[in-house]
Amino acid sequence: MDSDRAFKNPFPDYSGTPLLGDDNKLNKTCQSSLVSVAHRLLGIIQENFVPDSKDYSIYTGSSGQAFLHLHLHNKLPGVRDDSHLKVALSWLDPCLSRLKGSRVSFLCGDAGPLALAAVVYFKLNDKKLCKYYTEKVESLWEAARHDREIPDEILFGRCGYLSALLFLKHNISQDCVRSEIIQEVVEAVLKSGENLARKTKSSIPLMYQWHDKTYLGAAHGLAGIFYMLLQIKEPALQARIHHLVRPCIDYMLTLRFASGNCPSSLGSESGDKLVHWCHGAPGWVHMFALAYKVFKDKQYLEAAKDCVEVVWKRGLLRKGYGICHGPAGNAYTFLAVFKLTGDQKYLYYAYKFAEWCCDYGKHGCRTPDRPYSMFEGMAGTVYFLVDLLDPKNSAFPAFEFQT
Ligand SMILES: [Zn+2]
Repeated sequence: MDSDRAFKNPFPDYSGTPLLGDDNKLNKTCQSSLVSVAHRLLGIIQENFVPDSKDYSIYTGSSGQAFLHLHLHNKLPGVRDDSHLKVALSWLDPCLSRLKGSRVSFLCGDAGPLALAAVVYFKLNDKKLCKYYTEKVESLWEAARHDREIPDEILFGRCGYLSALLFLKHNISQDCVRSEIIQEVVEAVLKSGENLARKTKSSIPLMYQWHDKTYLGAAHGLAGIFYMLLQIKEPALQARIHHLVRPCIDYMLTLRFASGNCPSSLGSESGDKLVHWCHGAPGWVHMFALAYKVFKDKQYLEAAKDCVEVVWKRGLLRKGYGICHGPAGNAYTFLAVFKLTGDQKYLYYAYKFAEWCCDYGKHGCRTPDRPYSMFEGMAGTVYFLVDLLDPKNSAFPAFEFQT
């Protein structure tokens, strides 16, 4: 049934037809329709995206366009030159000269454009500038280290800074970031969680809040924080992270609604409503899927699969077609479970959501405030369509660094 938040999913159940080609990528027919829509939407973005001199973020600002073009360089078939990297730099340059150093996170802070610049220069073989911007990202921690006001969540907080460090390691080399910094940031996140758990007499070892509220989803809440912590591979930290995070995830298993959806905050007034990456089941899928990979306990896989069915039923949102709270972002939950199980039913789910996105603007969705941006708008949709060409190597943007 249609609701005020989502359209009824019009697609039939999976019939068993394979979508993968012999090369383990999406089959050529599906690929060519996605590529042609991606190019069409890209043209619309190029004509319409207006840079906002106050917003340099990857999330909604100019560096989000650079982020998309780096992705196009990496993933679009037939790209043989540096043209997308040059476009990325043209978006980044005005941002880099005006950063204020006020926020540390990858998605909404200075770490985003700086880490992106390091990776783009790495791809252009400019080792000097790659190092320069990598060190700039590292130096953000100097100022943030003693700041007790910084939250721990992904969008503005310490885990958002961690995602910049993981982005650098993933795209440049595992040892391009000083391990001491990762250790310090992780320790700060764990300590902050332990302190709040003690203060609130919580039944789990780590507790986090953002603006005095215990959010549970990926953007501001526990699912995003635990997901980022579980991606840390530093041998000195892993045992401690696993020991603290696992009971928290077990606790979150108990919080799920009967529908399979997940609450957006503790004591949430809104109830079983939101099915977004930022709030609700989609963010939790990534956490459960990774917990299964790390702890090899089937209950996490079952939880991920249950959540995914809710996203399939209620994930075609009226908010638009984007990553943070739209079908493009929601489809990454299907890809997460597909990568884990190899079951093409989940690839079919993702492909059907892509088809929905290919009819961009035809469903009467609301227009987001930043309609061409990376996390709210069309740039994110293009990012997803291109990622789906090689689904086994797809990864939720700025969040998933393990493929
Ligand atoms: Zn959102």
